Amino acid sequence: MIRPLPYVGAIKPYVPGKPVRELERDLGIQGSIKLASNENPLGASPLALEALKEVERHELGRYPDGSGYYLKNALSERLSQGGVRISPEELILGNGSNELLDIAARTFLGQGDEAVMAAPSFAVYSMAVMAVGATSVVVPLRDYRHDLRAMADAVTSRTRMVFIANPNNPTGTINSGEEFSQFMERLPDGVLVVVDEAYLEYVTDPDYPDSLRYLAVGKDILVLRTFSKAYGLAGLRVGYGMAKREILAEMNKIRNPFNTGTLAQWAAMHALNDSDHLDRTREVNEEGKAFLYEELTALGLGYVPTEANFIYMPLDREAGPLYEALLRKGVIVRPMGPREIRVTIGLPDENRRFVEALKEVSGL
Ligand code: PMP
Repeated sequence: MIRPLPYVGAIKPYVPGKPVRELERDLGIQGSIKLASNENPLGASPLALEALKEVERHELGRYPDGSGYYLKNALSERLSQGGVRISPEELILGNGSNELLDIAARTFLGQGDEAVMAAPSFAVYSMAVMAVGATSVVVPLRDYRHDLRAMADAVTSRTRMVFIANPNNPTGTINSGEEFSQFMERLPDGVLVVVDEAYLEYVTDPDYPDSLRYLAVGKDILVLRTFSKAYGLAGLRVGYGMAKREILAEMNKIRNPFNTGTLAQWAAMHALNDSDHLDRTREVNEEGKAFLYEELTALGLGYVPTEANFIYMPLDREAGPLYEALLRKGVIVRPMGPREIRVTIGLPDENRRFVEALKEVSGL
């Protein structure tokens, strides 16, 4: 049989979860809740859903707008309200921000190159790096946060890229503006910093860095955001990146010309205007966060305070059996390590069910 490239053969495949309905059938249960993938428990923005009805049938017979003209213009306008002007030419759209991680790796990394990243962090970074035969240099988190000093120390003459998830998945922690600025100062020329801000909309800490500022002064930085989380469009797959034109010109050579679909672009554009949905999303998250903090504390369970829409829980026991036991109660969370789980903050009822199930299965 045809053999894969050695570095492709070495990749551990991503194992997708079963569809919830199949899982329920296997376990003989109903009405389970999924708190495993950090989706928006309110679902998609109603404005986006309404707008999807307007897409005419003939539009879907045509290829999408490969330049993402309208969505990029809308994003440019919205982002520029934050103070730093982002032009449409400084934007790139992706089939989820996930695809932009891949495109960045394929554009700037090859065999012999190194990419620095934290662990635990978003698993796709190392997958994207391995897929192009480059090497991941992994720096452990410190107090559940990116250790930016150690990450800067890990940069060598072979380093081409650094991945920073801010907030980090799975721990929900952030690095401050001050830490980030010190890190940026130490970075040598010719290294691209990929700042993954998938959960930016949930952040409440005033020390959160304004990464776009670095773009404005011409740094080699790629800031990634997504419509999958706070905007509730995970199923449509649309994310965006911001970088200077020269960087995006290279990435666009690698990008598949029609990588974001017509429905995805259209829905994202309207979700962007749905400030009510975004406000409500943040409210539900803050309420759920406060409730879960209180309940977990009362149960004597540890958790890492979060700036995102999920909570990381270091356990005093193995995560596998707890995950399985919760599953049988119809509560799907995510085991993250041998003794850690991550739970997405849900609707009030979902959070209550999670806590009840946790009490039942852990004998607390
Ligand atoms: N970055 C982080 C930190 C994430 O947690 C996720 C989704 N789990 C992504 C990127 C990718 O999101 P998407 O491809 O849906 O935009």
